[in-house]
Amino acid sequence: MIKVLLVNTPDDKKPVNRDMAGGLGFDRSKTTVLPPMDLLNYATFLEQKGYSVVLFDSQVESPAQEQIERIANQFKPNVTILTASLPSVDNDISFAKWLKGILPFSSQIIFKIGTRFRPIVEKILRSSGCTYCIIGECDLVIDQILTGHTMEGTARLLNDEYHEQQETLLKDISQLPIPNRKLLNNDAYRYPALGDKTTTMQTSRGCSFSCSYYCPYPLVQGKTWRAMNASRVVSEIETIIRENKIENILFRDATFTLDKKRTQEICHLIIEKSLSFSWWCETRIDCLGIDLIDIMKKAGCVGMNIGVETGDEALLAERAKQGVTLSKIIQLTQHCKKVDIKLRVLLMMGLPGETKQTLYKTFKLVEQVRPDYIGLTTVTPYPGTPFYEDALKNHWIKTFDINTFGGHGYNTQIDPLTSEDLKFAMDKIHMAYRFGLEDSATTKAGKDKLQKEFLEWVELQ
Ligand code: SF4
Repeated sequence: MIKVLLVNTPDDKKPVNRDMAGGLGFDRSKTTVLPPMDLLNYATFLEQKGYSVVLFDSQVESPAQEQIERIANQFKPNVTILTASLPSVDNDISFAKWLKGILPFSSQIIFKIGTRFRPIVEKILRSSGCTYCIIGECDLVIDQILTGHTMEGTARLLNDEYHEQQETLLKDISQLPIPNRKLLNNDAYRYPALGDKTTTMQTSRGCSFSCSYYCPYPLVQGKTWRAMNASRVVSEIETIIRENKIENILFRDATFTLDKKRTQEICHLIIEKSLSFSWWCETRIDCLGIDLIDIMKKAGCVGMNIGVETGDEALLAERAKQGVTLSKIIQLTQHCKKVDIKLRVLLMMGLPGETKQTLYKTFKLVEQVRPDYIGLTTVTPYPGTPFYEDALKNHWIKTFDINTFGGHGYNTQIDPLTSEDLKFAMDKIHMAYRFGLEDSATTKAGKDKLQKEFLEWVELQ
């Protein structure tokens, strides 16, 4: 029997969620700890195919390295699958080298990484000691990859030359087996807005919207939105509640409500089956409506992450979120407040076309919407996106240090703004958000002062 050890690589030097940003990796706060779903999908499928599997998530075990050494010595895996991502790649390579040193000579190390960007994948192949990298969507062929029956979705060195083979994307992701969450220490995962013992589900892949200009999801998962049908989604929810005894679910789909009809069906089934749990999802304003929000609330939705990016109408239309208007943002966020659905507004600073004035409009939008949570990021030139190509052509990339590609690095410089400008604006926008959480006389004075400072800065051209 082939023994497979699946390890979410330790990230104690630089906390990162490798599943996020479509699999390219995203800086994480220590308070958000989400299960490594890519590895869990592999482990579940391999187990069903008769493999012996051990899944180890370094995020939730301490000291991780010592425990991995012990497992490696006792379990003696034939293959170890490690996770890697852009912002953690140097750390991931160092870990693989260490692991290679303690595993038997014949034991293989394989990396799972979201990017297909050759310089990074080749760096891993040449310097980590791994046999090959999984760079594609291989959930239902992982067994054939391990036995060498296919090279689909992998990159490797053959006679010292780089080779990669494209995979066929799964058309119907309802075929994916329900992940065996018993392989995880479920008590250890948490999402601050939902609380302890939270698990994640991914019920769709890909995204067809034009913000693929900068977004990693269409890049990694494709521009065609592929979704599980409602009954497959609800079967997994039932398993989570009944077998895993988990009552908080974070849907990790990039645009959970892209198909409003499917979302309604999911909600109706949840209500019909009296499934009691709290859930949170991520979506866009133009994929929502008053009726949909109401049924989502009835089905247990307690909050949403809403991609807004900017408070400037022109920038929204040109670059950030075509089809989303400020009036729609205001109308639907107000309705969410009315029915007590919490909101995390996601904003991105520094897109081409961003100016001090557009940043001020974002600041004003935050004041007006008063979100419950806020997610502030800087635009990142993910290799493979049209934004990356433009950034190369226009010499916008200030640093190619891949460790800064975690969603919060200041790695581009696009006139007329400097990194200091972006830092200033992000700081003030964050303060506006903090003030929005409270309502007092002190807050009023603080808000006025903040507004004055921001306006003075905008006028300083
Ligand atoms: S809607 Fe969201 S996931 Fe889709 S391309 Fe735009 S930013 Fe990315």
